Amino acid sequence: MVARMIDGKAMSAALEQTLEHAVANLVKAYDVAPCLYVVLVGEDPASQVYVRNKTRRTLAVGMRSIEIKLPATISQSALEDQVKALSRDPDVDGILVQLPLPAGLNSDAVIACIDPAKDVDGLTEVSAGRLLLGRPGLRPCTPTGCVILAKHSLGDLSGSHVVVIGRSILVGKPAGLLFLAQDCTVTLAHSRTKNLADVCKSADILVPAVGCPEMVKASWIKPGATVIDVGINKVADPRKGQGAARLVGDVAYEEALEVAGAITPVPGGVGPMTIACLLHNTVLAACARRGWANPDLTAAKWPT
Ligand code: NAD
Repeated sequence: MVARMIDGKAMSAALEQTLEHAVANLVKAYDVAPCLYVVLVGEDPASQVYVRNKTRRTLAVGMRSIEIKLPATISQSALEDQVKALSRDPDVDGILVQLPLPAGLNSDAVIACIDPAKDVDGLTEVSAGRLLLGRPGLRPCTPTGCVILAKHSLGDLSGSHVVVIGRSILVGKPAGLLFLAQDCTVTLAHSRTKNLADVCKSADILVPAVGCPEMVKASWIKPGATVIDVGINKVADPRKGQGAARLVGDVAYEEALEVAGAITPVPGGVGPMTIACLLHNTVLAACARRGWANPDLTAAKWPT
């Protein structure tokens, strides 16, 4: 058996096309486009690439996107003041602080300055509490993308056993809660989990979110399982020359293809969906805050 590839690029393109249409209707109705502010502190090259991508795709669906670039030497209080000002500004719909922040800056304290109504990354205590309580709110983008990809692959997820590897605040924990909200039976595995391979092998849906290149082997995967690989790892690629690198996930993709029923590639799987979900959250935040009717996204033409 060769696993079906779950195409995150095509899925995110479908969601973004629907969002583009929805944004055009909002602009027609209310004469203003939702506006995302991205705060980038320091010169980290990976963060610069992520922010550029987010900005480009926000603009592509017709929203406004503004980057605020701040020096790595900024003080904690000056950064917090900047984020508080965005929280107060009525023209700002979404605030994203690109993480990680440079050493010496306290990201928890900065995130606490984001108005939960504009928390498009779903990282504030209010957003986390709403997720835990099952109340409406803005959900973290990467785990939301994982659920969309799994649902597209399997349909109803109810009763499926989901094993998430990783318990971070950004991915693992919210992924567990979001799959629970789909009536899945959820296991959160992590660095102290015993017999990890056996735990993984019991999963109908396996969601590795560790940051360890190709740690999940084919022998860890139940035949026919759906694998949603969150990990993004840069590894040396000597075939492309000295110093060259390529991206791999947490799953040994080639061998996993022989066992899984469906699997996301890296790159081109969860990554593009994360940005599409960020754009979706920005539209949702704008509608909720400005009292606009929520656009209907059920019309998304998902790839077959
Ligand atoms: P993190 O370092 O905060 O958390 C990693 C988790 O993995 C921890 O909870 C830890 O318990 C667990 N872990 C570590 N070693 C383990 C081991 N040997 N066995 C089992 N569990 C182990 O990382 P994160 O922010 O949650 O990100 C995880 C991965 O997902 C990274 O590769 C990151 O780049 C990637 N990521 C991808 C996207 C995307 O859009 N695709 C978004 C966010 C993060």
